[in-house]
Formats: sequence, C-alpha cells, structure tokens
Amino acid sequence: MTTIAQDRELHPPAITPETQPFFDATARGALMLKFCDACQRFHHYPRALCPHCFSERTRWVETKGTGSIYTFSVLRAGTPTPFALAYVQLDEGPRMMTNLVDCDLDALDIGQPVRVVFKPATNGAMIPMFTPTQGKAP
Ligand SMILES: [Zn+2]
Repeated sequence: MTTIAQDRELHPPAITPETQPFFDATARGALMLKFCDACQRFHHYPRALCPHCFSERTRWVETKGTGSIYTFSVLRAGTPTPFALAYVQLDEGPRMMTNLVDCDLDALDIGQPVRVVFKPATNGAMIPMFTPTQGKAP
C-alpha cells in the first residue's frame, strides 16, 4: 500500500519568550537547539535552565537538521488527511516530537534517516518536520 503524505492545516505554535529564538530560526530555515556550556549537553524543547544540571549557561546552537526516526505512528482516523506523528532522534542527541512529511507513510521505518523541512502554520510560523533521506533502514 502507498499513502503519500499531504500537507495539512497546522495550528500556530505557542510562542513564548523562551521559544521565540527557535521560531525566529525556523523562519530562516534553521533548526536550533539549546546547548548547556556547564554539562556540555543539548536539550529540547528550549528552556532557560538546563534540564540536566539546572545551569543558566545555555546558548543556542544551529543543528545539522538531520537525525533518524526513533518511533512513529500513522494517524488515519478522525483527521482530514493521514499523517505521521513521530519522535525523531536528532544527530545532536535530543528527541523531538514532530511529523514525518513529503514521503510514503507506508514506507516509514524506525531507524530511517531523516532531515528537517519546514511547513507553514496558518499564521505563517514555520514548523520543523522531517522527511526520509533514503529508503527503509537496513
Ligand atoms: Zn547542563
């Protein structure tokens, strides 16, 4: 079976002072993560205090925008168009809840490599989502 993912209406994200820089970056096609200089770890979602060590020494770092599918589920019921809800494990470490787009939803696989793409919400904010860069994982 083949189910080609279609673009769907996306609700505007809740943008707070902590997440404003994240969405400023997505508007220019960049995916940013917070990095903690105290414990040398990334985290997501963005927070002023590091969730690993509670340090305030966090800063924004642009990611490569690549990762792999950690887990996913294709939702078909109660939605105008089927879509894939997923956790993507970024190459920098954190997992991000997202959608898998621009692909055959029936050919997705755990471990499959993906890269970020940006889809507009109804208010124009750009939402990071991911698309496979190659076929099913070996
Ligand atoms: Zn830390």
